[in-house]
Amino acid sequence: MTPEQFRQHGYQVIDWLADYIENVEEYPVLSRVRPGAIRSRLPDAAPDVGEPFELVLRDLDQIILPGITHWQSPGFFAYFPSNASPASILGDLVSSGLGVQGMLWSTSPACTELEMHVLDWLVDLMGLPAAFKSDGLGGGVIQDTASSSTLSTIVAARARTEKGGRRREKGENGKRNAKSASRDSELVAYASREAHSSVEKGIRIAGIPRENLRLVDVDRELAMDADALARVMTDDVDAGRVPFFVCATIGTTGTTAIDPVRRIGELAREHGAWFHVDAAYAGSAAVCPELRWTHDGVELADSYTFNPHKWLLTNFDCNALYVQDRTSLIDAFSITPEYLRNAASETGDVIDYRDWHVQLGRRFRALKLWFVLRHYGAEGLRAHIRKDVELAQYFAGLVAASDDYELAAPATFGLVCFRHVEGDDTTRAVMDRINDSGRAYLTHTVVDGRVGLRLAIGGVRTERRHVDEVWDLMGSGLDSCIEPEDD
Ligand code: PLP
Repeated sequence: MTPEQFRQHGYQVIDWLADYIENVEEYPVLSRVRPGAIRSRLPDAAPDVGEPFELVLRDLDQIILPGITHWQSPGFFAYFPSNASPASILGDLVSSGLGVQGMLWSTSPACTELEMHVLDWLVDLMGLPAAFKSDGLGGGVIQDTASSSTLSTIVAARARTEKGGRRREKGENGKRNAKSASRDSELVAYASREAHSSVEKGIRIAGIPRENLRLVDVDRELAMDADALARVMTDDVDAGRVPFFVCATIGTTGTTAIDPVRRIGELAREHGAWFHVDAAYAGSAAVCPELRWTHDGVELADSYTFNPHKWLLTNFDCNALYVQDRTSLIDAFSITPEYLRNAASETGDVIDYRDWHVQLGRRFRALKLWFVLRHYGAEGLRAHIRKDVELAQYFAGLVAASDDYELAAPATFGLVCFRHVEGDDTTRAVMDRINDSGRAYLTHTVVDGRVGLRLAIGGVRTERRHVDEVWDLMGSGLDSCIEPEDD
């Protein structure tokens, strides 16, 4: 493809995407194809000879689009959002065009330095602790997902514990380091029963036995019960085990419950364990000062992770992980074969992000975040979050005032969990009805043993009329979604 052809096809693709964005509301939100339907329309082998670009675009419309579940539809409420804002799409396009692989500072200094810089910007924008900035011992890094970043922190936590650990804040007058755990020590990790499955996955991948992960009880609002955590940590220490990793969640996946971060952080510090805060979805809310109360105690965290790719208008994938002391990550991940040695790295004056996570190669993801931050500005981002929270409050109000529905959990952010008062069968029937309509898509969870529906509001183009449409679908002809009982 010559540069001139690239220009021509590039315009065609941007036009295609602009039309898609304009019309996305017209498609059924949840793809209706049956398993195998897309593959059955694709040729058995890749073409021997290159085909005209127009044919690729034609098949995009005819074969691929029917198999798309439209995450960008304003009627998409099924999972936390995965927003592809136009500014972000363009930033990602530039990243693809530059084709940079930023494993080392020297493989593209701008890739590393822009990443450091926009992540520092976010610290200020979100009121996060200054210790997360890269001008001291800490810093931020963009990884693909919250799952990967949690795995990285588990590995770093283990390395730190085996090395001698953080200084304990209590016990023996705070004078000695946490017990240096030998490789045979029984390391124990803690998260709540409502924590994301990525914590358990990270523990498994790190080779920690599953029975050494304590899933701590939750309170009535599904937040971790800090007293229960205190008890189980003490029991473990008394039994000679070593607490090494504690995870608190701000905005759990099921219901956006908020763990008592400060209390959990204090307990983690008391026991010399690494304290990780998973704010994958709800972290973005901290751009709004009035929602920062949800982050109380976050300065106690050794690490904090959140996804701009969920609620901050940055398209997938873009996860921000912050640490207070980057040496723990680097100690855990740095291996330097001869072919990666270079003068800049040898000086120690630069950051080589390859040492901050599992993978070596890395995309220039900071570009899309930079485009987003500059295009929307702090005010634009706040307006987006506020619009979603207001819509969630509006919908929660409709539910609370209704005789047929009730809230299954408090709605603090953009997620509303609710259920039909008649019970699980009716709640599921309502969900099927909404999803079958093609106008909206939502999913269910289980809260206190009962089925609850999740309406996750967060789309760039979601407005009140889309939420009203869900409400109408919940009400209109509800009787017909329940099989009539035989007389
Ligand atoms: N943590 C929480 C609290 C989540 O809600 C999610 C996903 O919804 C994750 C982690 C996993 O996110 P990712 O897909 O970035 O790994």
